[in-house]
Amino acid sequence: MEKGIGASKGYGIGKVVVYRPADLSYTPRTGCDPETEKKRLTDALGRFLERNERLRERVRETAGDAAAEIITGHIMMLQDPYMSSEIEKQIDEGACAESAVESVCDLFIAMFSSVDDEMTRQRATDVSDIKQEMLGLLLGVRTVDLTDLPKDTVLVARELTPSMTACIDRECVVGFITELGSKTSHAAILARAMEIPAVLSVENAVELYADGQLVVVDGVRGEVVASPEEDTVARYMQLRLDFNASRAENAKFVGKETRTADGKRVELFANIGTPEDAENVLSNDGEGVGLFRTEFLFMDRSTMPSENEQFEAYKKALLILKGKPVIIRTLDIGGDKEIPYLGLEKEQNPFLGFRAIRYCLHNPEMYRAQLRALLRASAYGDLRIMIPLVTGVDELRQVRAMVAELMAELDEQVIPYRKDIPIGVMIETPAAVLVADRLAKEADFFSIGTNDLTGYTMAVDRGNAKVAYLYSAFSPAVLRSIRHVIQTARDAGIPVGMCGEAAADPMLIPLLVAFGLDEFSVTPTSVLATRKEISRWSKEEAERIAETVLSLDTEKQVVAELNKYA
Ligand code: PEP
Ligand code: MG
Repeated sequence: MEKGIGASKGYGIGKVVVYRPADLSYTPRTGCDPETEKKRLTDALGRFLERNERLRERVRETAGDAAAEIITGHIMMLQDPYMSSEIEKQIDEGACAESAVESVCDLFIAMFSSVDDEMTRQRATDVSDIKQEMLGLLLGVRTVDLTDLPKDTVLVARELTPSMTACIDRECVVGFITELGSKTSHAAILARAMEIPAVLSVENAVELYADGQLVVVDGVRGEVVASPEEDTVARYMQLRLDFNASRAENAKFVGKETRTADGKRVELFANIGTPEDAENVLSNDGEGVGLFRTEFLFMDRSTMPSENEQFEAYKKALLILKGKPVIIRTLDIGGDKEIPYLGLEKEQNPFLGFRAIRYCLHNPEMYRAQLRALLRASAYGDLRIMIPLVTGVDELRQVRAMVAELMAELDEQVIPYRKDIPIGVMIETPAAVLVADRLAKEADFFSIGTNDLTGYTMAVDRGNAKVAYLYSAFSPAVLRSIRHVIQTARDAGIPVGMCGEAAADPMLIPLLVAFGLDEFSVTPTSVLATRKEISRWSKEEAERIAETVLSLDTEKQVVAELNKYA
């Protein structure tokens, strides 16, 4: 069995077709007649546009608007005035159309690949896709013929480009395996939109599997099982059946409001780590963003993102969400999230140390840049600021003071921002739970971070396997904390959400309905399943269960009781 990245969930069982790219070699010509080459280029461009516009419509029908935008991106890139003028310049200097296209595309690929940012690197793959297609058109070679694959095909390729993915017939292809690509690559987004299971980043995949070989693509665990035994196939067939049944059940909730069985409306948001993830929120029918973990903008790079870079990232997420709420959490580093260039000292107890809001308040220059970027971005949608790891009102007051100063600065510079921007706090420490009444007087909203709250309440290190048995949101202590926080927020009249993993746990949902949680924020792919679970419970029924559960003494008893309703 080989491991990779599960980029599109589901189980595909089928026979391998290895994709081998067409031969696009040619002999570059020099001293060509510019007029003839320009005519060839214009013809190829016309066919490129025609083909991609057809492809876009097909993708729109099979995978939706967001997926179709990827093809629009290709069309626009090739129409970019700088790119086309560079190609023409080379032709004017005597190059043939093929080498002009190839060298200009290579220039863009090198430029995009050198940038330390996932989104920009993704554009390098897009340009490479465009290059292959244009060369194929100029040379009269059909680069991709994936329109005529046999039924139950598992397509194995070094890399899956958007144009390959888009022309695939989802009736015939049951899975993808590639050597390159990540969860956020455009091909992964398309695979998810088309609901084709995909495992990406499988080393040597093209060499490993042979045409006609039977394989299982397990997009849930990110695994590939080659030449499985009969009983393994039977097991995966059952898993596929269950998975497809629950997906079909979830699909009934697309476009619906999130309501409890007795009609109470709650908000169902999603958690994201990059602005690009915002697309996933919409494609999974999320109603907003309940947690944007901004630390990902600071990771995997060697210097701090500037105020402007941050502004662009936040603005991008807001524009994608088109006016839906976007709760952006300020930098939460330290603990298990290391950022080498910040030069943080090694600590004995990093989870109890210099992290999150503590670090930010001691590094005001850096924090001011983030808050300023957030304020500037707030002019583009419904942005709300959230502070992590709060332990008391003092931290909130300090942030408010900084925000007020920055607002005055922006007023002076006549830079627009949202004047009534909500500032909320995460409730993820026992201290915050205990002073929730005080915090509720000064915060605009609460969001319960059960991932940390469970660890801190149970005094369990999130990563220590020996004490993992204590790490459970179903522990009576954690449940009481959750109930108390929700009740306190309700008494104070401020909204309360939950953005820890527990918000999507079907066993916890009846309790959250009973306590009166206003907003759930879950990973984008859990949105529909969570909406379905919420719709199962009326307040009355949920309260009945909660009453029993809260009378129990141990976590084991709580889990056994809730299991009855799963
Ligand atoms: C949490 O602690 O529940 C939370 C959502 O924050 P993170 O997982 O990023 O620490
Ligand atoms: Mg946390």
